Amino acid sequence: MRAEPQDFGRVLSSMCTEPHPAAREAAERFLATNPGDPGTYETVSELEQQVVDALGTITGVDDPAGYVASGGTEANIQALRVARNVAGGAPNVVAPESVHFSFQKAAGLLDVDLRLAPLDDDYRADVAAVRDLVDDETALVVGVAGTTEYGRVDPIPALGRVAGEVDALLHVDAAWGGFALPFTDREWNFSHAPVDTMTIDPHKLGQAAIPAGGFLARDDALLDALAVDTPYLESTKQATLTGTRSGAGVASAAAAIEELWPDGYREQYERSLANAEWLADALEDCGYDVVDPELPLVSADVPTPEFEALRDAGWKLSRTGDDELRVVCMPHVTREMLEAFVDDVNAVRQQRNVNT
Ligand code: PLP
Repeated sequence: MRAEPQDFGRVLSSMCTEPHPAAREAAERFLATNPGDPGTYETVSELEQQVVDALGTITGVDDPAGYVASGGTEANIQALRVARNVAGGAPNVVAPESVHFSFQKAAGLLDVDLRLAPLDDDYRADVAAVRDLVDDETALVVGVAGTTEYGRVDPIPALGRVAGEVDALLHVDAAWGGFALPFTDREWNFSHAPVDTMTIDPHKLGQAAIPAGGFLARDDALLDALAVDTPYLESTKQATLTGTRSGAGVASAAAAIEELWPDGYREQYERSLANAEWLADALEDCGYDVVDPELPLVSADVPTPEFEALRDAGWKLSRTGDDELRVVCMPHVTREMLEAFVDDVNAVRQQRNVNT
């Protein structure tokens, strides 16, 4: 096999990034371990507990339950499963329209009615609209802390109050935002609201190697709602969705967090946000409407022909559901990359002007 992975030099819309060197090294070392069998692979299981404890520190909860999942999708499926198993019956889940599409998968798999509430004018969950959709059958209210398209943080404490009114659980999807939000004044975590479960992915802003998603529950009882007996293993029960799992992600997450929490993540957040603000200004100067970056993510209404010309120039870009160009300022996205990108944006615009 002679293929080489692509480099990150022109990757602007991914929510994953180059792993920290220590995380890459740990992933390789633990490649052949399986935290799904803790009786056999003890060291990686201890590392997983360290990661869960550290994620608890990052998200404001002591002694959380949880594990390193394959990614945010699995963690969100598990959150919905917890809520469904706790509630019983034919439950529904209420989430903002900005929720990640993994909830469509989760709801389909679990045969749960997913009710999507409209957003307010700044792309956040509209609390009144969420309140209109909940009822006695609501098992789970979801808030997003760092939305995929605009990097917005939903009003988590207010969503918690709505969940409490109907006795539902509250899940926060901080898959992407979780490693940036500790350095902001946002209210998003277990200490700010009655959060029951959370998704926070080391393989995104946590700079761990894929696969390293994070699923947290406030306490063991919630995680136990997922547990099945494991007769042929030395451990007695298993709450994960997958059986055999990669120890690479677990070890990689442990190494990244050990290296970077908190100062490395803070510096990275500040650098990335400054880059996002610089890019937002530059795109505005080009005449585009830009959605103000709240976290390091910029969306702008770049017309389709220009978007396609930029993709043809090799930039790995994607669009929001409303067709805006979207740049995620991940750790590998440097100011130099963005300057080269804006040069290309200007060249593409000039070319269009010549042609029209
Ligand atoms: N939740 C949010 C907010 C996301 O942005 C994403 C992916 O970008 C996910 C969940 C899904 O994560 P994964 O792709 O790791 O399954």
